Formats: sequence, C-alpha cells, structure tokens
Amino acid sequence: MMDTQFLTIDPGRLDAPTAVSALQLAAHIIQQGGLVAFPTETVYGLGADALNATAVARIFAAKKRPFFDPLIVHIADATDLPRVARDVPPLAQQLAAHFWPGPLTLVLPRNTAVPDVVTAGGATVAVRCPAHPVARALIRAAGTPIAAPSANRFSHTSPTSAQHVWDDLAGEIELILDGGPTLVGVESTVLDITEETPVVLRPGGVSVEALQAVLPQVVVRRQLAPPGAELPSPGLLERHYAPHTALWLFTGEDAAIRQAILETARAQQANGRAVALLLAEEDLAFFAEGGWETAVGQTAVVGSLNDLEGVARRLFFAMRQLDRLEVSLILARDFPPLGLGLAIHDRLARAAERVIEAARVKGA
Ligand code: AMP
Ligand code: MG
Repeated sequence: MMDTQFLTIDPGRLDAPTAVSALQLAAHIIQQGGLVAFPTETVYGLGADALNATAVARIFAAKKRPFFDPLIVHIADATDLPRVARDVPPLAQQLAAHFWPGPLTLVLPRNTAVPDVVTAGGATVAVRCPAHPVARALIRAAGTPIAAPSANRFSHTSPTSAQHVWDDLAGEIELILDGGPTLVGVESTVLDITEETPVVLRPGGVSVEALQAVLPQVVVRRQLAPPGAELPSPGLLERHYAPHTALWLFTGEDAAIRQAILETARAQQANGRAVALLLAEEDLAFFAEGGWETAVGQTAVVGSLNDLEGVARRLFFAMRQLDRLEVSLILARDFPPLGLGLAIHDRLARAAERVIEAARVKGA
C-alpha cells in the first residue's frame, strides 16, 4: 500500500497556480514510471508512460487486470500517431480529423517502440486522442504517450468521478487528479481499421451512426460472444463493467419491461429480498400507479429515453450508487440501441447476471 495523493483541478482554469503545480507533479510521476488517474471525457483513466514496460505492468497489478487484456494508448495530438503506430493509413487521418479529440479509439499496426505489455503481445495498438483538457495537458506535460485503461478494479463498473477512482484504487497508485464528473460517461468506441472492412469492436462514446456518416462500410461486431468463444478483443469478455450486486436486465417493449420489472420486484420482495431499480423517467408514472414506492433512494432514474446521451453520462454513476445500497438485486431496464443507446445496452448486458426478455415473463 502507498499514500495516494488526491488533487483537484478545474478543467476550465488550467493556468491557475494549483492546476499548474498539480499537472507538473502528475507529469513527473508519469516520467518516473508511476501511476496517475486522470479525467477523460469518457471515464477516468489510469495512466502510465506507454513506452515504459515496467510502468505499464504496474497498471495491471493495481487494477488486478489480466495481462491478456490490452490497453488504449492516449496521445495529445493526431500528429503523435507515428510514435505508437506504423503504416498509418489515410483512413486513420481522415477519422482523426473528424472525431479527434474525442471518444474514438483506432486499432492500428503497432510501432515497435510500444512494449508488448501494452498490446498483450499483439501486432496492433489501440490509440486515441482524448478531448478532456486535463488529459491532454497531462500527456503534453509528460512528453510521452500515456497508456490508460479505465481507473477501476478489473471487471468492476468504470469510474465517472474521482471519488469512484478513490473507492477502487486508493493505496495502489501515486496520484488521482480530480477534474469533476466525466461528460460522456461510457468508454470510447473501439474501431479496428487494420482489415479490409472497418469493424466496431466495442460500441462507445462515438455512435455507430456518426461513424457511418464518414465510413458507410463500417460494421459492428456481434457484441456478446458465447462463453469460451475466441475473442478478437479481450475487453469483449462477456461479464464486465459489473456492480457487485447481481443485476438483471429487462429487454423488450417499454410496456412489457415495466410490467416485468414490477412483477419481479414484487415477487423478490415477497421472498424477503430487497431490490433496487434502474429506470428511465418515462417509467415512473407506471410504477407510481402500480403503488411501487420509487422515491426511497432504492431507484436510480438515469434519464429520458429521448436523451440517451444523458443516460450514458449517468449510467455508471447510478450503477455504483445502487451497488452501495443494502439490496440483493438490481433490476434494470434496457435502452433502445440507437446512438449512444448501443453502448448503454452493451454495458448493461455485460453487467447483467441475467438478461430477461420481458414479453416472455409477462405471458408466464
Ligand atoms: P479499457 O481501457 O479498460 O476501456 O479497455 C481497453 C479495451 O480496448 C480493451 O479491453 C480492448 O477491448 C480494446 N483494445 C485495446 N487494445 C486493443 C487492440 N490492440 N486490439 C483490439 N482491441 C483493443
Ligand atoms: Mg475498463
């Protein structure tokens, strides 16, 4: 165990003396092979010098992350791509021009300067240029690309606030930079452009629709692999992003979802199990009419079905909030797979112990 420092930076005032000294310290720690958690626009990242194998190995130890799960390398500008990738195709430049800085990760052929531990020994490297001012300032000040997975214990819910990072990693890392809650709330979209057809390996902060506008031929890899299947990207491990409390995900038509959640909640309660609900604003009237008390902190309302960006921003926060309650089960509604809804669905499905098709429950 070590003492973990916690410093707050206002992302809008990077020239404030406290911000300058915090960034200097953070850059120094990275250069010395240490670990710094920092805000990005997606979730908080746990950073180390991407070109220092010993430093990167410490990320895996702190997170208890298996070495077969490769890391995303963060750069401050697209012009730094050749430092970590080689044979960068014009398509990468084109996508960078559209989506960087931002929540799009590109899988490219790896530059030999990048150590094996970053890429899990693979011939490709995942790279992105984050849009958060603190992240970019840190990468610039460190003067090196920064390898950074999400700053949580492996397979736990990703952190969208510095407090979340503290809860998971205090005592394991040198410094946490607190830049406030993250804006996007789900991780980056991972796009593999090393093959003939560009493939979305993980849906995330850049919607597939936005990608298609630039890249009509893009396809989305079937998301949840059956247990034991070969995984092209280990982040696609089926169970991931999970709260400690069991979560059941209800899919289907809105009316069927509501009915199934209410019936399941009642049945569980009758069996003496306390339940928490993760719902949309539009669900509340139904639960109120059904006599279900949703105002007691056992319910997280993550936003409107018409505002999936807002839902994405609050999703992990809500999962962690419900996880802290003394309940044995979280019942969550699914969201339509449009825009950021695809990433929301993906994270909920991976967090889920069971995925329940609501129509079937209703008829049962
Ligand atoms: P995290 O940073 O924790 O959000 O996880 C990064 C994820 O990016 C990994 O779990 C993989 O799914 C993906 N990734 C990283 N590097 C590669 C790569 N070289 N090829 C394919 N996917 C990758
Ligand atoms: Mg992660």
